[in-house]
Amino acid sequence: MPAKEPTWTTERIEILKIHFSAGLSCREIANEIGVSRNAVIGKLSRLDLTREKKPEIRRPRAKTNRPRSVPRLQYRILRKLFAEAAPAEDVVTIHSEQHCSLLELSEERCRWPINSPGEEDFCFCGDRPLEGLPYCAGHSRLAYQPASRQRVARG
Ligand SMILES: [Zn+2]
Repeated sequence: MPAKEPTWTTERIEILKIHFSAGLSCREIANEIGVSRNAVIGKLSRLDLTREKKPEIRRPRAKTNRPRSVPRLQYRILRKLFAEAAPAEDVVTIHSEQHCSLLELSEERCRWPINSPGEEDFCFCGDRPLEGLPYCAGHSRLAYQPASRQRVARG
């Protein structure tokens, strides 16, 4: 070909793009067009066409994992908890050491209610909660156990 003709004519660029999206290797594309493999690689990078970016373009929804980290952490804690728990006791007694009122509740205190709201001695457990959970170990066990056993030992 004449020396002044550019390697990359509009037509060749079109062919390059078509072959690239068809998944051909740089070597194959180079053979198709009749240029060197390096020329293909160089042109692809100038056109910002790289193989790595392709999957993201096809699946733009792939990044929805983030909010799951907290439930997953809780799940792990609970699974450990149940693994350690004594098997099927119908009544579990939790000894709360530091009962507290609603106003005294904080991130640092188990918010499991003791007695019924409105009653004179209504208060909250107040023990140290498990990391990532609102309840202490004993009350987490009660809170997250299967529905049939729930609330058995409440209060
Ligand atoms: Zn508690």
